[in-house]
Amino acid sequence: GIGPSAWANGPGLWGSARRRRGPGDHKYRFGHAVVVGGGRLTGAARLAGHAAARAGAGLVTVAAPDAALASYAAQPAALLLAAEAEIPALLADPRRNAWLLGPGGGAGAALRDQVLAVLAAGRGVVLDADALTVFAGRPADLFRAISGPAILTPHEGEFARLFPAQGERLTRARGAAATSGAVVVLKGTDTIVAAPDGRVAINENAPPWLATAGTGDVLAGLSVGLLAQGMPAFEAAAMAVWLHGAAATACGEGLIADDLPAAIPAILAAL
Ligand code: AMP
Ligand code: MG
Repeated sequence: GIGPSAWANGPGLWGSARRRRGPGDHKYRFGHAVVVGGGRLTGAARLAGHAAARAGAGLVTVAAPDAALASYAAQPAALLLAAEAEIPALLADPRRNAWLLGPGGGAGAALRDQVLAVLAAGRGVVLDADALTVFAGRPADLFRAISGPAILTPHEGEFARLFPAQGERLTRARGAAATSGAVVVLKGTDTIVAAPDGRVAINENAPPWLATAGTGDVLAGLSVGLLAQGMPAFEAAAMAVWLHGAAATACGEGLIADDLPAAIPAILAAL
């Protein structure tokens, strides 16, 4: 059993925290997400940036190394593009309020330094993939740096590198959130979303055809897009996981990750 203190994930948990646009609204009221992209696996950051925009972020910038900028030209035209050298300036501007690092990032010291710089600046942060793996063996360096809204989105392998505990997924996710001070999204068939204060949601709408390349990057992008809009980290993460499953269900078997962002508007419209 999931126990009395774990909720089934759904709109009842986060619907009232969702940001909705009204007639006189302006893009600058819906946040500015920054996706730090890699130099080689550029598809990951493209998927994430696209998903952040579909989730409703007012603006989305993808920041990438110079040599990779040309390959980012294939991203949706609404996304802004910045060179890696501009990251310190982007970070100094509090309007760039939510940052995603990790998708396609390359597990090097440079990425670790970028993560620590974003955390030191007090921005909202989503860490996925390599941005988690760079702290394997020294997870306390990461946990010490987390003080504001933070969402970690590990699959089981990435989770085990940061949180070596044994036991049920629910228990491990809850312990990881308490230890790290971040909302932990332990991905899988039934993804668990755990907050440092003990709240836990179990997601049950994800179809098995999500088990394909790039879907995790889309989830990270949805998460940062909702965080940018000012949703609290737990609600943003739980809503992202649910939207991801609903979009995948709508796409059907045979989906590729590129299909998911385009399926988001119909899901949002029905909420
Ligand atoms: P990643 O492991 O980073 O590639 O992310 C994969 C995404 O697909 C995560 O959101 C997982 O929760 C989801 N996923 C993977 N396998 C399954 C499955 N068999 N059933 C439902 N969702 C899955
Ligand atoms: Mg992944």
